[in-house]
Amino acid sequence: MKYSSTRGNGVKLDSAQAIIQGLATDGGLFVPDSLPKVDASFIAALQELTYEERDAKVLGLFLTDYTEEEVKGCVTRAYGNGKFDDAMRAPVKIFDDMGVLELWHGPTSAFKDMALQLLPQLMSTALKKTGEKDEVLILVATSGDTGKAALEGFRDVDQIKIMVFYPEGGVSRIQQLQMLTQEGSNVNVTAVRGNFDDAQSGVKAIFGDKSFAEELGAKGVKLSSANSINWGRLVPQIVYYFSAYADLVKAGKIQAGEEINFTVPTGNFGDILAGFYAKCMGLPVHKLICASNANNVLTDFLRTGVYDRNRDFYKTITPSMDILISSNLERLLFHMTEDTAKVAGWMKDLVATGRYEVGQELLQKIQQTFWADWTGDDDTKELIGRVFADKHYVPDTHTAVAWKVAENYQQATKDGHYMVIASTASPYKFNGSVLEALGAETAGLDEFAMLDKLQELNDDPTPQGLASLRTKPLLHKDVCAVTAMKQAVLDFAAK
Ligand SMILES: *Cc1c(COP(=O)(O)O)cnc(C)c1O
Repeated sequence: MKYSSTRGNGVKLDSAQAIIQGLATDGGLFVPDSLPKVDASFIAALQELTYEERDAKVLGLFLTDYTEEEVKGCVTRAYGNGKFDDAMRAPVKIFDDMGVLELWHGPTSAFKDMALQLLPQLMSTALKKTGEKDEVLILVATSGDTGKAALEGFRDVDQIKIMVFYPEGGVSRIQQLQMLTQEGSNVNVTAVRGNFDDAQSGVKAIFGDKSFAEELGAKGVKLSSANSINWGRLVPQIVYYFSAYADLVKAGKIQAGEEINFTVPTGNFGDILAGFYAKCMGLPVHKLICASNANNVLTDFLRTGVYDRNRDFYKTITPSMDILISSNLERLLFHMTEDTAKVAGWMKDLVATGRYEVGQELLQKIQQTFWADWTGDDDTKELIGRVFADKHYVPDTHTAVAWKVAENYQQATKDGHYMVIASTASPYKFNGSVLEALGAETAGLDEFAMLDKLQELNDDPTPQGLASLRTKPLLHKDVCAVTAMKQAVLDFAAK
């Protein structure tokens, strides 16, 4: 299977090359030239398999230039080795009327682990397959979650180093501790004197600097990113839609072949797009419901066909969804139109005016699969309290956004298909907002006291990765000015 750009520059690559390169040279995203199809027996056979085995089966359909052994090695290193605290990796918590697909049992307690544990393995294997001799240096600017998940994924991976910049004082105390205690022989974490935009602009400037790339190239180092537009970050996410379906059939909750719905809390449109791929491949999915917070640019787009980022930006209790540019939407537009000129035009409009419009015909086609709504912080908190009271289950804030939107969908459409909600973070990760939603007093409590307090209410234990922060040594103390970031990269590259 070959991969080419959504914007039509005509270059065709194997998946290994697409994963090393990340972004196409015309600025587009890599997409597979055709989507593999599976039948009922393929899906039925998944029931008796482990998550890693399910993973290898589904990935094998896309990564046709990797051998079966290579794919198996990658998934074992990604999800095995005790890194996930649940034997099912991505278990479905099954309630009578719905299921909750828990995607946060990885080392950093959020759904980014599902992809960022596997991407480094796919990339490292790709380097070996393609005979690449250079070392790859991954640069990340983070506002919190992505940095830690990338560090955990890339730690001690062959031929790759990772360097994460975060805004000094601009991340939560837990997030900072998660990064400062990071272990691994190939990792660096540096605080930048500035805010997130400063850190991100600094990283972007480094990526855009050709002479700097040459200077690093002379030392045998190539820069790359762990960004969510990399095909190697998207493809792992397709697997858990299949896995969830297989588990529901196995549990007798649905019949084999019965269509179900998924509601997904959405930011960059990666998670829900993976569900779209699963549906295209033949997984019985009726509707994909896109849930947003007050930054509801996607709700508006999926209702009107107008994507317009010219609007106020809100800081919400669901920070991982505080996004106004959903990069992976470009892939959906490509698959729905197969017209690279149109896609390139819309993306050009987006850069020039912050807005594009896809027209009624395409909108109707999109709406056959997608439904969208959003919810604000107050309703999100109300839902957490209500779910706890009804089911004695504690969803995190992002999960709660999806849950509330799923309710809205069912009320608005009377659609009775079995509903699965994608749960993207452990409630312990966003413990302050969750405790408030549960009506608990948080004044004067530090992060660890809040973990303890939530533990008293919640049946599920505190994830090991968060609990162990109390005692882990701080390993990374570097701080630099924005203007010194390049030098910091050079110093780390030379190590
Ligand atoms: C990244 C993230 C999301 C959004 O996922 P996208 O793939 O960007 O749409 C939702 N919830 C949490 C907790 C996340 O970390």
